[in-house]
Amino acid sequence: MSNPHHDYYARSHHDHEHGHDHAHDHDDHKHPNPANEHDNGPPGEYEIMSRAMQELLEAKGIIKAEQITKRMEQFDEEFPYRGAQVVARAWVDPAFKQRLLTDGRAACAEMGTMLEAERLIAVENTPDVHNMIVCTLCSCYPRGLLGMPPTWYKSRNYRSRVVFEPRAVLREFGTVLPENVTVRVHDSNADMRYLVVPMRPARTEGWSEERLVGLISRDMLVGVTVPKAPE
Ligand code: FE
Repeated sequence: MSNPHHDYYARSHHDHEHGHDHAHDHDDHKHPNPANEHDNGPPGEYEIMSRAMQELLEAKGIIKAEQITKRMEQFDEEFPYRGAQVVARAWVDPAFKQRLLTDGRAACAEMGTMLEAERLIAVENTPDVHNMIVCTLCSCYPRGLLGMPPTWYKSRNYRSRVVFEPRAVLREFGTVLPENVTVRVHDSNADMRYLVVPMRPARTEGWSEERLVGLISRDMLVGVTVPKAPE
């Protein structure tokens, strides 16, 4: 890398024959403005197909509309919380943190969360290294831990710029890192998802796991913000 403070990590990435495993949001082409990705214009091809699929499955009695509603609520309410729980556990339990960093999927399974992707790679922020997650191709994201990806994560703007100017993107999220910190950008794919493990803030000694969870937001686990020490 020519610039030691900006590493772009692409492990096996999208050079495999695009075996994406789920209904993916390859929909950015029909939304020129990423800020208006939702609720504008007619439904896209994938939206129409997924609605048709849902109607067929309901008509055949295979699923009920309530099950879909329940699942969507889980994505909104329960799943984002799971990522924070995993990180809070890692903050209070060094042995768990080690297992999380070694095999993220197995560590999450310990906490009762079965993840959709083959591998979860937990990347730890340190005083010297800050990690960020992107899917440069589409929107691969640890949904089982963080819920549905936010609109900005799927936007072409984020997906392209985070690789070339991560610090500028961070600044837009209000995150300014010291110059000596190396920023690493990790590119997700269908088989491999990432979770950022932020640094535990100062002045939280002796806090319970539950209280620590309250300091952790989704954006920190994607690496665009960092948790703040309590006042
Ligand atoms: Fe993707």
